[in-house]
Order: sequence, then structure tokens, then C-alpha cells
Amino acid sequence: MKTRNVIIIGSGPAGYTAALYASRANLEPLVIEGHEPGGQLTTTTDVENFPGFPEGVMGPDLMTNMKKQAQRFGTEFLTTHVKDVDLSKRPFSLKCENGDEFLADTLIISTGASAKYLGLENEKELIGKGVSACATCDGFFYRDKVVHVVGGGDTAMEEASFLTKFASKVYVVHRRDTLRASKPMQERCLKNPKIEFVWNSEVKEIVHDETGVTGIKVFNSETNDTNLRETDGLFMGIGHSPNTGFLKGQIDTDKAGYIIPTNAPHPDTNVPGVFACGDVQDSYYRQAISAAGSGCMAAIRAERFLEDSE
Ligand code: NDP
Repeated sequence: MKTRNVIIIGSGPAGYTAALYASRANLEPLVIEGHEPGGQLTTTTDVENFPGFPEGVMGPDLMTNMKKQAQRFGTEFLTTHVKDVDLSKRPFSLKCENGDEFLADTLIISTGASAKYLGLENEKELIGKGVSACATCDGFFYRDKVVHVVGGGDTAMEEASFLTKFASKVYVVHRRDTLRASKPMQERCLKNPKIEFVWNSEVKEIVHDETGVTGIKVFNSETNDTNLRETDGLFMGIGHSPNTGFLKGQIDTDKAGYIIPTNAPHPDTNVPGVFACGDVQDSYYRQAISAAGSGCMAAIRAERFLEDSE
């Protein structure tokens, strides 16, 4: 089996930028994109803070263009998941869900992070039947309906704002009485007449019938009451967790599963030849531009690693 110079696991701004740099350095990279090519930005609408777009850019368009740019210099793409890796020796070996196997001298991990769910008993079975973690994907189905969004950060505010385009009423259920979201996002929601906040409150149960979600039981920590609130939809806006499960402990991560950079500012991991970029190693900035920047660094680092090991 041919050993590749570099395989990039995961798409999104980090993976595509790593691919752009690696392909321009003639490393002929392969990007294994996962099942959601383009990553989290493909589920968002306007991105107003990616430099170079004074009028903003749609998330999916930004990702399509990044991919095309990497393709132009010879990057190969494969839409499958990596299910197993062996990082104990070089070349590293990878097994994919579609049965493909690969060897690579260096690996760049840019698998990002996925939306968190509350962990309620039936929430996963109700995905698509009233439970969602993506307003952009599913908001359309809630025209003139009542929805609840859980969370108090920017994700929750973004979900809530977006849902007002469709829903008749959007309630934001937050476990405290102050928001974590940035000021502009807070203000946008607080002054939106379609959005109402349900403070000091936790969703304890999802009520449903055969058609899907009909309500939620919400505990108020100030009054100690639990109330049934009727709703057609429940959107998760409580943050993300890193996609590192497939590494099965072969790379050092923190308690939450984020890969720990071992040689900052370089995107090195504790395994020589394996580099990490984007949200999979960043629980702090989590921005498209910082992910793209770290993808550039990972590719340059992989290139120099290959030169040094020749
Ligand atoms: P955050 O971690 O910032 O916020 C998560 C929110 O969910 C918090 O309010 C938290 O409550 C609440 N929460 C977490 N777990 C639970 C739970 N089990 N039950 C109830 N509530 C819970 O995550 P975000 O995804 O909102 O944002 C992450 C980063 O991404 C931030 O840096 C943000 O700025 C950025 N971002 C930027 C956007 C933009 O600029 N357009 C859009 C989306 C995200 P508590 O506050 O009590 O901890």
C-alpha cells in the first residue's frame, strides 16, 4: 500500500486550509472529510467575522470555496469517517468506515467538535421529530410553531435569532439569570419581540406523542417548581464536544477530550508526526479564522517534519 505524505482527517476551515497549504507544497494530501463535509460552518448562515468579506459570507459558500481552492492544487477528498487509527508506529495506519485503509507519514487531525445534547432519556430518538441541534438545518420545519432553545451562549442566541424567521414564538431556556453570550448577540435576542427568556430553568424531560415533541418539563431553581411547557421543537444550544473518540486514547487530550498541543505555538501533539488544528484542539477561540490559521500552521509543520525526517 502506498504511504501518503499527509492525510488530513476532518474538513472545516482548519482541514481545508491545511489541505491548501499541503497541496501547494506538493505533498498531495488526502482529506478524509467525515460525513459532514465542511463541518460546523455548513450549518450556519451569515459569517460576518471572516476577514476579506466586508458584506459577510454564507458559511456553506465559504466552505465550498475553501474546498475548491485546495482542490485546485491537487488535494484529494474522500467522504467517509475514520473509525480506527494506529499511531504506535510510522507510517500511521487508518481504517475508514467504507472499508478503505491508508498509510501516512504525517497526520493532521482537524475533526472539530459536535453539538452537545442534554443527555435526556429520549432526546436522541426524537432527533428529527422535534429535537434538533441545528436551527439552520431544521428551522424551516417550524413555520408558525412554538420552539424552545436551551443554553445561554452565542450558539443559543444564534439558534434563537434564526428560528424567529420561522417560528411564531421562541423561548430560550437558560439555567442561570445571566447570559454567557457576547454582548451584541445578547442584545439582538433581548430586543427581539419574538424571543422570550425562561431564566433559572433546566429542561428535565421531553414530552412527546407518536408525532413527535409536544412539550418539555422545566425545573425552576428559584421556585423549585417543575412546569410543563408546550412546544413543537427543542433546539440544543449548549456548546460542543471535540470529535476525538476515534483516537481511542492514542493522543493526549484534556478531560473534555480536546487534543493538548504539546509544543505551543506549534500545533504538535505528543505523537511526533501527528498535528492537530481547529476546534478539536481549541475550546477557547473556536473561530473559523483561528481554525484556518491553525490549519495553515499544521500543514507547514507537517512539511518541515517530512523534510527533517528525510
Ligand atoms: P458556550 O460554552 O459559550 O455556552 C454554552 C451555554 O450552554 C452556556 O450558557 C451554558 O450555561 C449552557 N449549558 C452548557 N451545558 C448545559 C447543560 N447541560 N444544561 C443547560 N445548559 C447548559 O458554547 P457556545 O457553543 O454557545 O459558544 C462556544 C464558542 O463559540 C464561544 O466562544 C462563542 O462565542 C463562539 N460562537 C460564536 C458565534 C458567532 O460569533 N456567530 C456563534 C456560536 C458560537 P452556563 O452559561 O450556565 O455555563
